[in-house]
Amino acid sequence: MDSFRQNWCLSIHDKDKICSMPTFEDFKLKKQLKNTLSDLGFEKPTPIQQESYSTILGGFDFVGIAQTGTGKTIAYLLPILQDLKFSDQQHPRVLVLAPTRELVIQIVEEIEKLTPNITVRVLGLYGGTNNFNAQKQAVLQGQDIIVATPRRLYDLAISNALRLKSIKKLVIDEVDIMLDFGYKTQLKNIFEHLPTKRQNILFSATMTDYVDELITDFLVNPIRKTISISGTPPENISQECYAVPNFYSKVNLLNHLLEDKKEFHKVLVFVGTQLNAVRLFETLDFKYETSLIHAGKEQNYRTSSIEDFENGTSRILIATDVISRGIDMEKVSHVISFDTPSYPENYMHRIGRTGRAEEQGKAILFYTEKELEQKEAMESLMNYTIPLKEWPEEVKKASQLTDEEKAKPLLPEEPARKNTISEINSAFHEKSAKNSKEKVERVSYQQVLKERFKKPIRRGDKIQNMKKKNKKK
Ligand code: AMP
Repeated sequence: MDSFRQNWCLSIHDKDKICSMPTFEDFKLKKQLKNTLSDLGFEKPTPIQQESYSTILGGFDFVGIAQTGTGKTIAYLLPILQDLKFSDQQHPRVLVLAPTRELVIQIVEEIEKLTPNITVRVLGLYGGTNNFNAQKQAVLQGQDIIVATPRRLYDLAISNALRLKSIKKLVIDEVDIMLDFGYKTQLKNIFEHLPTKRQNILFSATMTDYVDELITDFLVNPIRKTISISGTPPENISQECYAVPNFYSKVNLLNHLLEDKKEFHKVLVFVGTQLNAVRLFETLDFKYETSLIHAGKEQNYRTSSIEDFENGTSRILIATDVISRGIDMEKVSHVISFDTPSYPENYMHRIGRTGRAEEQGKAILFYTEKELEQKEAMESLMNYTIPLKEWPEEVKKASQLTDEEKAKPLLPEEPARKNTISEINSAFHEKSAKNSKEKVERVSYQQVLKERFKKPIRRGDKIQNMKKKNKKK
């Protein structure tokens, strides 16, 4: 982990609690686990481990907002393994769902690392290889913990090889990625095969409306803990913001800034939704210098977008929060938050992508009146007021509105969304009300694309080909 993330990640919101945080001794772990932790050289629990242990061990539903690198895997594995009694029953008692094959393998390895002295049967299941029958046989041999990607798990469940009614604890790791990859239906199908009486444990690096919706729909009074970046932003990142009336004025302002190619030489532009990502890409003057990345794009497209940005073929990369999270980028000159993030921590993740390795970085935020409250929540999290820049006279403010802006006029008296730092840990119920409102207004992304482009977008797309052609010249 680089020093930026180290400084920021391992702080918790409720700083008063830090003195009374439990140690591994306080966990009263069984001897085998305690010895293994000591053999691994783990001296004390990380904040997410401290926050989650007793809740998960107590059998409560739990939501942990924590990034990779914070020790979140062991945060759920430790109480699960502490509670798991020896059994030779055939059907599994613990199910861990993860979005990718790589993560499944990693989780299985963490379990094996923790259990050299405990008899636990663990099996990783994922697709992409022709091993369905071998996996079926392995399941039939009897397992305690299954770690799986949703699709393969579901296929095995409906083939009757795997009985999910015996599951007592369900963990969903990297829920945000899972939902961004469109696994919601798969998850719902799996839930139908699970017993209603079970413990649900969710881990997500970022909070998104989709994650919130899943929590509201499927968890029972979960206890939520957020371990995230907070505190003073690093000095090598300068921040500024612009108050902007609407989407198309944001486009005008962005075009104006991007004209200075020398200054803005590697620019990461964050947008709030896939729809805005596509819309901005289509309207930007610098489209032919721009790559796009969001979860609606296939893996090959995403990989090539990142490569183009990294090797300088594209000067600009438009990205949504979740999908850009795992990408390690070098020397980003500017991070522009075209949309103000709904969850303040996401802003910290965003700006952390500039100013790496002690280089000077620049972060610019655009916010509308509707986004003002989100901006204030971010400022309160950082304990820093982002300096406001004057609107450049030469930039035109647009009167054209997007369909969403037309549909929902700005109402200053609208009830405030509460997500200040102290409220983050307990904001479930307020947000679920907000979500139910948003559900009605949300338009299907595919539908919007279909209406906008009249035909499906082809993946090996025109822009990519154009760029390759230009490169060859
Ligand atoms: P994760 O956030 O789960 O990806 O974990 C990141 C890394 O931290 C993994 O290699 C873990 O084995 C390691 N780790 C987890 N908990 C601790 C701890 N309490 N002390 C030291 N390392 C840890």
